[in-house]
Amino acid sequence: MTRPVTPQAGGLPVALAELRRALGPAGVLAPDDAAAGFVRDERALLPAHPAAVLRPRSTAQVAAAVALCARYGVPVVPFAGGTGLVGGALPLGTGSQVVLSVRELNRIRSVEPADFALTAEAGCVVADVQRAADRAGLLFPLRLASEGSCRIGGVVATNAGGSNVLRYGMTRDLVLGLEAVLPDGQVWHGLRTLRKDNTGYDLKQLLIGSEGTLGIVTAATLRLFPRPRHRAVALLALPGLDALTPLLALARELLEERLTALELFGRTGLDLVLDRLAGFQDPFDRPHPWYLLVEATATRDGAGLAALLETFLTEVTERGLAVDAVPALDQAQARAFWALREALPEAEKRAGGAVKHDVSVPLGSIAAFVEAARAAVAAACPGAPMNVFGHVGDGNVHFNVLAGQGSSAVIYRLVGEFGGSVSAEHGVGVLKREALAAARSPLELALLRTVKAALDPQGIMNPGKLLPAP
Ligand SMILES: Cc1cc2nc3c(=O)[nH]c(=O)nc-3n(C[C@H](O)[C@H](O)[C@H](O)COP(=O)(O)OP(=O)(O)OC[C@H]3O[C@@H](n4cnc5c(N)ncnc54)[C@H](O)[C@@H]3O)c2cc1C
Repeated sequence: MTRPVTPQAGGLPVALAELRRALGPAGVLAPDDAAAGFVRDERALLPAHPAAVLRPRSTAQVAAAVALCARYGVPVVPFAGGTGLVGGALPLGTGSQVVLSVRELNRIRSVEPADFALTAEAGCVVADVQRAADRAGLLFPLRLASEGSCRIGGVVATNAGGSNVLRYGMTRDLVLGLEAVLPDGQVWHGLRTLRKDNTGYDLKQLLIGSEGTLGIVTAATLRLFPRPRHRAVALLALPGLDALTPLLALARELLEERLTALELFGRTGLDLVLDRLAGFQDPFDRPHPWYLLVEATATRDGAGLAALLETFLTEVTERGLAVDAVPALDQAQARAFWALREALPEAEKRAGGAVKHDVSVPLGSIAAFVEAARAAVAAACPGAPMNVFGHVGDGNVHFNVLAGQGSSAVIYRLVGEFGGSVSAEHGVGVLKREALAAARSPLELALLRTVKAALDPQGIMNPGKLLPAP
């Protein structure tokens, strides 16, 4: 149980003075300090007015800072890479909440090849963790377009997904143990490398995906895997979305556990990339409505892997599930196909941004959902371009509508009708609280609030995020 703390008099000014003593002058930045400028909204949708930006350098300093905030009743907003898409890392209001950046906690504490595990602090950039695993001849498989900026604390707190989920699972599946500072300043030492540990409630799973509302992750022990040495990638042009369900089934059947990624995108997205960004080419000689990027990897037998992909491509074209298919002839071409897919968010941003909907539906319903949503959005927002893409192997669709104000209500209604989720992987933050309130039953919402009240009775951890207003 976290300790209920009775706030002392003095409030924010006294708390800031004590925080400066505990963290040193460089550990507490004034909001107008240029060095605090990294606290901003990735999507430029929300303002950020922190009372101060804290920069602790160790778990002990995080604990001291949180204990002080609890003592003076000051709300704390954890901040890592700042790439979150739902406003979760931004302070609300003006000058009443402090941002606690974990960026200075940036050590890889250990790499343990025998345990297929690595322990990284919360401020480590995901790409650096991938490189550390790679240097040990292993793989940390979390892969997302923001991996050069997002950090371990952020991906754990949001249970990030990305394009390798099909084979390796979400962040939730990649965490073996956690170290975290609880809302009263106590440190929970839960860094373990065990694969099996059936000793009651799984506390780390409670913290994963809690978006900073239950505590601050300071380090994580992560699962590593044998590093694939061979990769086969192909780009398929689909005649229409009807092909999707049989294609997904065939990919799983023929490529088996080697199947790593299945990424869908539409012509609108490809046009955005070709129009807005330099250095890209249309991979086909004529336009198609939909494209599917397929990737399979293996630790051994590269020739066998290429042959398997070839069989898959022959089969899908013979069955009419793809009208064209190009296997990447070398790793440079494989990277070019991926670059196309990963450029979609940037191209969309350059086109003025979109109303984003990161949703998921059951695998068998993806095509029907996308068609229904396209029709509904066309009626609600006539002429608005729809950039639909996503990790479809997991039923995850990013249904983004350019100039699409008013599109969310129709999309979330359909998500409900299809038995889907209003947040597949980006979390709830501040932008999806209302959508969550509408999507979850009163019992589920009450249970979420019970958990929050048990761990954070004072309500100082990232208030106004994730949980809908009562
Ligand atoms: C181009 C682009 C592509 C993306 N692609 C994907 C994708 O494929 N899949 C996906 O899932 N997401 C994706 N994202 C979203 C984003 O990268 C993820 O949500 C990521 O996990 C956020 O990590 P971060 O370090 O930037 O966290 P931040 O944005 O700093 O924080 C996110 C949330 O976590 C909390 N938090 C941060 N650190 C801690 C901590 N140490 N302890 C407790 N809480 C903490 C914050 O309070 C906030 O609520 C993408 C974003 C961009 C810009």
